[in-house]
Amino acid sequence: MEKRNIYISQPVLGEEEWQACKEPLFSGWVTQGPKVKAFEQRFAQIHGVKHAFAVTSCTTGLHLALEALGIGAGDDVLVPAFTWVATANAVLYVGANPILVDIEIPSFNISIEDFKRKLTPKTKAVIPVHLFGLCADIDAIKKIAPGIKIVEDAACAAGSMYNGKYAGNLGDIASFSFHPRKSITTGEGGMVTTNDDAIAEKMDKLRNHGAEISEEQRHRGAKPYILPDFNMMGFNFRMTDLQGAVGLVQIEKLQGFIEEREKWAQYYTDELKDLKWFQTPVIPKGYKHGWQSFACFIDEKISPLSRNEIMEKLQEKGISTRPGTHAVHMLNFYKDKYGFKAQDFPNAQLANDQSIAIPLHNRMVKEDYDYVIAALKSF
Ligand SMILES: *Cc1c(COP(=O)(O)O)cnc(C)c1O
Repeated sequence: MEKRNIYISQPVLGEEEWQACKEPLFSGWVTQGPKVKAFEQRFAQIHGVKHAFAVTSCTTGLHLALEALGIGAGDDVLVPAFTWVATANAVLYVGANPILVDIEIPSFNISIEDFKRKLTPKTKAVIPVHLFGLCADIDAIKKIAPGIKIVEDAACAAGSMYNGKYAGNLGDIASFSFHPRKSITTGEGGMVTTNDDAIAEKMDKLRNHGAEISEEQRHRGAKPYILPDFNMMGFNFRMTDLQGAVGLVQIEKLQGFIEEREKWAQYYTDELKDLKWFQTPVIPKGYKHGWQSFACFIDEKISPLSRNEIMEKLQEKGISTRPGTHAVHMLNFYKDKYGFKAQDFPNAQLANDQSIAIPLHNRMVKEDYDYVIAALKSF
């Protein structure tokens, strides 16, 4: 087979997004304004959620969510040990303690058993991660701990569903990401969602320095001498209207992107099912995967080569892959701060060492998928 170059991920951006940027550019209104508002409304509508607020990233969205829930010093927040470092960092930003919880394989999501073990009277919230686009088992969490707040890390979960509901509706607040590795992108960017009116009002203000009214309202108002009042310490987590304009184009493409990736995910699953050492994602009943990535597990007890050797050999063939994500407890900052050992979270460690995301994105064609499949079968 002729050599191909296949990226792990590649956003679909082009003429439409370029055209959309012109309006805010030429109007001169480039910070949070009408485009951001329209993007928020469309995002909320598509996810069936009452409120959505654009922010600068999923990370600042998680920070904002914890702040809006009043989580702070002395509070414990449970976080899965296998996730992007930002999930745990957000807890530290508000002065609370991230308490790591092991995960399950092959879902790579929070372990309900370990969640139960880690609950204490100090537990105020949990941040279940819908990793790679597969929702965490939120109903199980609610059943075990009805009193604690739930902030969904929905970075990978735009368009994902769980028991008939979209991600973004499953807890008290959710935070999505529009980083280019995610399903839709605005360069950098995020969106927080909630169905709670009081939390919504608080988040809307907190993302804009705590101002009682937005800049757009102020500029349109009749009393130029009035500056807004500030009843709380907020942040500048505002998305630009340039990004809002791009987001508005991208959000209309979300369902189509997912449908296409779903088709190829099924193709991978069917074509790779005879490779016993290569465990493809399993979708439990009642879940709709958002396919942010196709993260698999290599069973090194029976695989012909180690995960790292396989990744190297695929790279030589022009196929880029990545570990699913990292085990937070083994990152130097967390390891040193808390004295963690690898085996403190055995499944997170196993996922860290033996997970592999193979290319699945909306710029790939059938020949690319066949090339990846042939490469894996050649081992
Ligand atoms: C990408 C990602 C984040 C961070 O998103 P940003 O928008 O880059 O801040 C957080 N959590 C998870 C699980 C992610 O995959």
